[in-house]
Amino acid sequence: MPKDVAIIGLGRFGTSLAKTLQQMGANVMGIDLHEERVNGLANVLTQVVQADATDEHVVKELGLRNCDTVVVAIGSNVSASLLITVMLKDIGVKNIISKASSDLHGRALKLVGADRVVFPERDMGVRIAKYLVSPNLLEYIELSREHSIIEVTAAGFLVGKTLRQLDLRNRYDANVIAYRRGNRMNLAPRADDTIEEGDVLVLVGRNEGLDKLQSK
Ligand code: ATP
Repeated sequence: MPKDVAIIGLGRFGTSLAKTLQQMGANVMGIDLHEERVNGLANVLTQVVQADATDEHVVKELGLRNCDTVVVAIGSNVSASLLITVMLKDIGVKNIISKASSDLHGRALKLVGADRVVFPERDMGVRIAKYLVSPNLLEYIELSREHSIIEVTAAGFLVGKTLRQLDLRNRYDANVIAYRRGNRMNLAPRADDTIEEGDVLVLVGRNEGLDKLQSK
């Protein structure tokens, strides 16, 4: 858990991130060009600063080098986002996370030194599309381009059979790593456990197989 975090750009994404990290116990410094953005968070964050972060003096004087993580949460002004990322890299910030508004913006951010590039709008669109297409999908985590962990509510063909009978590993390249029944979590599923309607299965596998399994 990062202790000292700075968020540059307090738009919708930056504000939500800043508030959440502060609630979770981090010391958050919020920086924005606009006074009203900064004033709105003055009583919520550890520190707020109204400043233009493309100004090199500002970046140096704020002591951002001592932060565990600095997030550049500016999407629409691509040049500002790139300049700020370069300056943060120059002063030796350990962990720079920058928000991209397009693939090209993301590639440029990587090139100028962002340790991690995030695409909140794109990722949220993908996430919501997945939930819409598969109503039983509760959660998914992308492990790589080809592999994911998903959490699905057991329904249809999954119900009333043992894990051995379902044979998901051979049929869908998917492994049940845990399942939840009511409040009880079973972290060591056995081959002869029978799946009941409403159980929540946690599966790891190849996306292709997991997609097939959900559309069955
Ligand atoms: P949202 O998170 O709302 O989708 P966005 O991706 O559209 O935001 P912008 O509106 O470009 O991003 O910027 C987010 C915030 O960053 C704004 O509040 C803006 O005032 C601030 N900002 C833009 N440029 C700078 C800068 N040079 N220095 C500091 N803050 C800036």
